[in-house]
Amino acid sequence: MKIARFQWQDKVHWGILENNTVFSLVGNLYSEFEKGKELCQLKDVRLLAPAEPSITVACGMNYMDHLKEMGRPVSQEPVLFFKPANTVIGPEDDIVYPAVGQDLRYEAELCCIMKQEAKNVPEEKALSYVLGYTCGNDLTLMDLLEKDGRTTRAKGFDTSGPLGPFLVTGINPHNLAIKGRVNGKTIQDSNTSRMLFNIEKLISYISAFLTLRPGDVIWTGTPKGGAYPVKIGDIIEVEIEGIGILKNKVVAPN
Ligand code: MG
Repeated sequence: MKIARFQWQDKVHWGILENNTVFSLVGNLYSEFEKGKELCQLKDVRLLAPAEPSITVACGMNYMDHLKEMGRPVSQEPVLFFKPANTVIGPEDDIVYPAVGQDLRYEAELCCIMKQEAKNVPEEKALSYVLGYTCGNDLTLMDLLEKDGRTTRAKGFDTSGPLGPFLVTGINPHNLAIKGRVNGKTIQDSNTSRMLFNIEKLISYISAFLTLRPGDVIWTGTPKGGAYPVKIGDIIEVEIEGIGILKNKVVAPN
């Protein structure tokens, strides 16, 4: 099922998408819901990020093909960092190139959106805590990552976490084609099967030290070709099989 969060007639809604028709979502997104009446066509709405996280937790260096190209060793445990809620923008928003940085990179990622509160969840039960999946772009200021030696500024600046275009339920997250393009040129072309730590492992590992809440987001890392430099004016696309294309433009700061 494809679920969208969108602005329509001056209000924010969650809805269910079938082909290009938007239906209302009746019930609670995080427990029981069903398809309601027809609202409008997809072209009539402004799509918003399909998640309202209190926190987003990201895993770095999580694709075998990316580790290989970077010459990095395989780590024994997930390498985690936070992208705060201010980073989240939707599929129709712009990425603002921050004035504080000079080396902006993009990373195509599969993102997992939580359905229920998760604390100390064992791997074998982890997927039942998931609502669905969307595309993410983990924008990074590489110069600040190297200068600061931490991700706070490098991955925590406003607009550095586009999500969308839809939240998709009922798909197998571990066998999806994942692609990244800049100005139409393919930069990344991989598959989520190449993840080192799968989503079950990530949820179990993360929920052992913090409580994940409904709507929280887990970033699962970028495949080969990730951390590719982008500049003002570039159009970045993240495409994941069964989800869609997340497309954002990089713009200059005001
Ligand atoms: Mg990343």
